[in-house]
Amino acid sequence: MEYIILLTVVFVFGICIGSFLNVCIYRIPNKEDIVSERSHCMSCGNVLEWYELIPLFSFLVQGGRCRKCKVKLSIQYPLIEFLNGLVYVWIFAVCGFEIHSILYCLCASALIVLSMIDLRTFEIPIGCNIFIGVLGLIRLVTDLAHWQDYVIGFFAVSSIFYVLYLVTKGNGIGGGDVKLMAAAGLLIGWQNSLLALMVGSVAGSVIHLTLMKIKGKDRVLAFGPYLSLGIFVAMLYGKQLISWYLSLF
Ligand SMILES: [Zn+2]
Repeated sequence: MEYIILLTVVFVFGICIGSFLNVCIYRIPNKEDIVSERSHCMSCGNVLEWYELIPLFSFLVQGGRCRKCKVKLSIQYPLIEFLNGLVYVWIFAVCGFEIHSILYCLCASALIVLSMIDLRTFEIPIGCNIFIGVLGLIRLVTDLAHWQDYVIGFFAVSSIFYVLYLVTKGNGIGGGDVKLMAAAGLLIGWQNSLLALMVGSVAGSVIHLTLMKIKGKDRVLAFGPYLSLGIFVAMLYGKQLISWYLSLF
């Protein structure tokens, strides 16, 4: 029972942070301030009241429309809020109530933001990568016994990516992808980092090829979302997947 209550608290906390992520997703690419300016309707500019800022709830109550101009609000808002809440519960349920679970939650939020922005602009904001890098540094100093794992993690995939970046002149791998894998490697260690690359590449090829087939989407691939998926899987199930893989030999 206590466990359920704890997870519920985690979920509520998650959707509140999710609400802030929506702000980041819209404002970072426009270089707008994410903290000081109050949230407003994108259509009529009406500044939102406090009760309109309650995640999920306000969207449902208002039927997904602006209170003033009645313009339809993007379903993306509640979806991102719900996703972030779900992801937080998932992380705590799998990794337990530990310090690194908090770091993983914050990392997952940054991954959501950078994925959404990468899908739209084909660029990963440097702020997201720096944020994940800071989480990695915290992970390093709170687990000094394994510092080598994290330091090697910083270089493991990012150095491969950097070579690809130079060879393809930035057309295959973007500079943001290089920095993302460096920052994430510092947080999850080199083994998980390689796993994240594997999961991300497989998911990326399968999903991207399928999309190209059905939708005739052009060939530009935003790699960020797939790498993010890989990093997420590695954070949650890295240990199990790696020991299962090694047991095959
Ligand atoms: Zn409005």
